[in-house]
Amino acid sequence: MSRSRRTLLAILTLFLAASSRTFAQSGSPAIDPTIAAQIAAIPAIDNHAHPMLSPPAYATDRNFDALPVDTMEPYTDPAGMRPNLPALHDAWQAIFNFNGQPPLDAAGLTQLEAAREKIRQQKATNYSTYILDKANIATMLANRVATGIGVQPPRFRWVPYVDALLFPLDNSALAAATPDRKQFFPLEDKLRAQYLQQAGLKALPSTLNTYLKQVVTPILEQQKANGAVAEKFEIAYLRSFGFDDVPQAEAAHLYATLLHTPHPNEAQYKRLQDFLFRYIAAECGRLNLPVHLHTTSGGGGYFSIAGDNPLLLEPLFNDPRLRKTNFVLLHGGWPFVHEIGALLQKPNVYLDLSQQSLMIPPRTMSAWLREWLELYPEKILYATDAYPYSSSMGWEEAAYIANRNIRDSLGMALTGMLHDNEISPTRAAELANMVLHKNAESLYKF
Ligand SMILES: [Zn+2]
Repeated sequence: MSRSRRTLLAILTLFLAASSRTFAQSGSPAIDPTIAAQIAAIPAIDNHAHPMLSPPAYATDRNFDALPVDTMEPYTDPAGMRPNLPALHDAWQAIFNFNGQPPLDAAGLTQLEAAREKIRQQKATNYSTYILDKANIATMLANRVATGIGVQPPRFRWVPYVDALLFPLDNSALAAATPDRKQFFPLEDKLRAQYLQQAGLKALPSTLNTYLKQVVTPILEQQKANGAVAEKFEIAYLRSFGFDDVPQAEAAHLYATLLHTPHPNEAQYKRLQDFLFRYIAAECGRLNLPVHLHTTSGGGGYFSIAGDNPLLLEPLFNDPRLRKTNFVLLHGGWPFVHEIGALLQKPNVYLDLSQQSLMIPPRTMSAWLREWLELYPEKILYATDAYPYSSSMGWEEAAYIANRNIRDSLGMALTGMLHDNEISPTRAAELANMVLHKNAESLYKF
């Protein structure tokens, strides 16, 4: 090797060492520092989460989910949701000044809870917005049965649940299908009773037409008037996707004849649910409320992963009468990450990154994110699915960790696209802003 080539090699080695140090300092070896800085500077709109109320309502708050998953039979948690997750340390430190190492033993958990309580008392009714500040989130869509103290506009926007309106008949046979559904259906029955009361009724109307006009539509309109910006379906926990196009006359006949029938025929009941789903989706379009759908393998050991395949939703998206309704597929669709990406071709279909931003480490998630960004970049929405998962991971830690994972994934995806000359640095900054903020801003017209 000549002297000049040796010198060149030495310079090159020095340069590589210096740049890998820079990357190592940024915490993620594959993120361009300029892109990382741009991403860090954008406060996010979080498309989906379950924030808890601020003190004094915090201690008794159970409205963070219509179907809380903390009562299900034991199942195998993904590694990212276990109490030994190293990232928990950083979240505890940043939010609660607590310096414990996961996993915590019983004494450690007691100390953590004391550290949390101290911050809750300090921040009082500003507690929930303090968590948003820590997680670099400007606005969080709060998927809750009801809002309350500390979880209010402008920092929080409400997304209520509508599954209860789909199941107006006797649900005992559906509830018997799995131990999880045995817990879920009574909760839906209770919520529907609450909706009936809100509609000013003591019992279900005897005809489908009056059910639609006196219960379903008024509840959606009330929720909109009370600040709802979208409607959420957890239907994947209750039955499979696949909604047939059922004529109203047939649905009306089914409703009238099955209303007081114990254990209604399952296939007939499904036809009624299918009609109601499309009716609600159309009403949501009229009211400018995007429809949120849980679409990924869900919690619990009895969740039907095959029934949750997003391709089963395609006939719905291809229905010209529903083109005014925007659908947001929540949680990235795993394991159907390519299928869900293809559905973004429909002009009214969007995708959010919630839940996978907790379950899937940034390196793996960045590959899926890159694929979606290369195809339909204006359809991808930042989201955390912050939720009170366990004694180690409350909605607070989940927001913090998911936020960091998404920003790292986004950084890796954009850096890869930049290195492969797919995009310019200007476009990289633009795409970051779209995912973190702008796409949601245009969808909800904030
Ligand atoms: Zn959720």
